[in-house]
Amino acid sequence: MNSTETISKSFTSAKGRTFTVAGCRIKGSQPGPTLALIAGQHGMEHIGPVVLKDMIRELQTTDFRGTVNLCPCANPPALELDFEYYPENEDLSVLDRHFYSRFRHDYCPYGMERAKGPNYYNMNRLWNRDTIRGVAGQITQWLWHEFVATADLTIDFHCLQAEKPLIYNWHRDSLPLAACFGIQAIYPHGAPDEFSMGNLGYQSGTRGHNGFCVEFSCQHAYKDEYETGKQGIRNAMAALHMTDARIRLTEPVYEVISSVPVKATVAGHIHYRKDEYEPVRQGETMFEISGLESVNVEQIGAAPVDGIVGRRTHMPIAKPGLEVISVLNVRELAAAGDHEKTPRLP
Ligand SMILES: [Zn+2]
Repeated sequence: MNSTETISKSFTSAKGRTFTVAGCRIKGSQPGPTLALIAGQHGMEHIGPVVLKDMIRELQTTDFRGTVNLCPCANPPALELDFEYYPENEDLSVLDRHFYSRFRHDYCPYGMERAKGPNYYNMNRLWNRDTIRGVAGQITQWLWHEFVATADLTIDFHCLQAEKPLIYNWHRDSLPLAACFGIQAIYPHGAPDEFSMGNLGYQSGTRGHNGFCVEFSCQHAYKDEYETGKQGIRNAMAALHMTDARIRLTEPVYEVISSVPVKATVAGHIHYRKDEYEPVRQGETMFEISGLESVNVEQIGAAPVDGIVGRRTHMPIAKPGLEVISVLNVRELAAAGDHEKTPRLP
């Protein structure tokens, strides 16, 4: 018989807003590994929170070994704003006059664009730090102790802008588990600097534990990637020997080794001829660009090498120099289909 313990804590922002962060600890019928599932750190990323809230019901009625620590909405005030972080010291009314555009993705009404350097409102840079920064830092400190510190595997759920979801992985030891999740492309994440060291995907994979980050493909909205997320969690539990289920991969899983970008040489509309992560041969057409002042195809974007089609640009209009798409050199980690379990974690 599984048991569910609700875990919640009240927090107060710099200007006195009080709110609750809630999660739960679901214990299976027998002892076993601990899996931590965290979502909703960034306020414009809503698919992960919905997947995790869905999973609570399933986990309560599924026989498994071990413990699942689950927090779907790590950053409630940011999620409520549909904004990346909760700017607790700033004038929130600025956001009433801010219209997000996915095509000006990097614009920030507070002048805190990512390119301008560290922004310590960003919850996913505040994990496991000596200095507690703001209410977001207090939340990460609490979540770390209650949910993450004892977890054999932590999966941190985010969303970016792409056609398909992907995984960021920091630690080689976590790669076999990341491959079991079932998302097609795993991008190795480089060694972090002092600021990005506070990333949960990185921190949770230190100390001999494992961690990685799932990026669903749509921000500020919903996209039907719920089953991908839920099957990924089932696969991770099977890989950890928490269940006897087989690992189901609907697509082959690739580790990205390197990429060759293909750039636009003209302005125009992009018509893609290949899907993300589809195999492509050198010389094959990946996209066409049609003119804005003609009815002609002005550029054929051919693959410069054999490989797998990479992420598309999020821009709708090509301009000379824009990286429209890339061809990835990949290593196949697992074929599509049902798989036996991965080895037990050391
Ligand atoms: Zn995020």
